[in-house]
Amino acid sequence: MALALAGLVARSAPQAASEMTLPTMTLEDQIDGRHVAFYYSADSNAEAAQLSRSYERRLTIGSGDTLMKVLVDAGAGARDAYNAIEAMSALFKPRYLKPGHEIVVTLRAGAGDGAADTLVGFKLIESVERDVVVSRDGEGFTASTVDHPLTLDVAAANGVIENSLFLAGETAGVPAAVLADLIQVYSFDVDFQRDIRSGDGFSVMYERYLDESGAVVRTGNVLRASMTLSGKEHELYRFANADGQVDYYDVEGKSMRRTLMRTPINGARLSSGFGNRLHPILGFTKLHTGTDFAAPRGTPIYAAGSGTVEYAGTNGGYGTYVRIRHNGTYKTAYAHMSGIAKGVRVGTRVQQGQTIGYVGTTGRSTGPHLHYEVIRNGGFINSRTMHLPSGEQLKGANLESFMAMRETADAQYAMLTEPDSGSPSSELALANRSAPLPQGRSGIPGRPGAAAWIAALGSQ
Ligand SMILES: [Zn+2]
Repeated sequence: MALALAGLVARSAPQAASEMTLPTMTLEDQIDGRHVAFYYSADSNAEAAQLSRSYERRLTIGSGDTLMKVLVDAGAGARDAYNAIEAMSALFKPRYLKPGHEIVVTLRAGAGDGAADTLVGFKLIESVERDVVVSRDGEGFTASTVDHPLTLDVAAANGVIENSLFLAGETAGVPAAVLADLIQVYSFDVDFQRDIRSGDGFSVMYERYLDESGAVVRTGNVLRASMTLSGKEHELYRFANADGQVDYYDVEGKSMRRTLMRTPINGARLSSGFGNRLHPILGFTKLHTGTDFAAPRGTPIYAAGSGTVEYAGTNGGYGTYVRIRHNGTYKTAYAHMSGIAKGVRVGTRVQQGQTIGYVGTTGRSTGPHLHYEVIRNGGFINSRTMHLPSGEQLKGANLESFMAMRETADAQYAMLTEPDSGSPSSELALANRSAPLPQGRSGIPGRPGAAAWIAALGSQ
């Protein structure tokens, strides 16, 4: 393969340095299923001519690849490849190389027919934030890192739901990870199977990280969101209290957190409710002790509340099963899993919303689904109708700083989504606009300030 490339170089440019300057050439091709880019440039002096025989190959690590194999396949000599990897190991352990990692290998084409190419170095794109660069240094190699700091900014989007929140969010350009967070923070109050109707709306303001080229490489927290359900708006805000505990609160500073989630899974369809039913396998009427959610095998299952795992393993007809003890009153159980999440075992402390396992069809089950049980004081209760204690209400200084934060967040959201003169004002154009955080708290006409809010709350 390397020889074929070297041949291509020879055909594309003169063999010797010439007086004239030749343009840089870039060739891209698909070789052995890998994307390969390589360039050739020639200049007017001998040193440049030497350099000009360098070419780059950008490769993606496949499953089962070792760095040694990739470098040698790319055309490096085995000894050079070994030394280069040795140099890299101080900054990046080869065992952390994963399929999907990209590597840019620089080689110098052999001078004559059949002459081997020489490894000049390579760049491993470790993450969006860091490259590991290995360069030739005489006979050996040295390694260094290049950091690419990410910029945090805030984006906002909104839309009207026609079919599902996911589709509406996608149309508005909201990243899937943000939508998943949005669903999770609302999951205590909104039943995404029953409560959403066509024409309902949503909005979200969230953090995102941009690389040097301005591309979004990662998303952060949802800062503010709203769901308009049957005309009623439900807003929520992310807020850290004086103790540094982060939670989502409604407009009045009441925590959205509930003891248990009704639906500890995303995008699932309720397939069988709680109560007496004819058992599909046993063939006689039996109390269905939980709620079934049909979902594809492998769909993550969340801990419905924070607690301690008291069972994790095979449990008869339940198949692969996890049970969590939340407090002295409540436990939840999850059955028919295809597998239990890494690190989840008896005694593990889990957080609400943490993935504890994956949908499967183990045990007495007719197809992939989650069987979810809520146990109160030892008895099974219906998760759809259970009464859940509501969250904590912020008070005093915490409430005051929450209200100030809320005002800032509202102003920022308005700035990000309100059309300004000269720009298109369509719903789509509004999505994903970004702007820096507002300085201080600017009042918005028509909205009460924080002090007025607190006074109003106090007088109720
Ligand atoms: Zn069931």
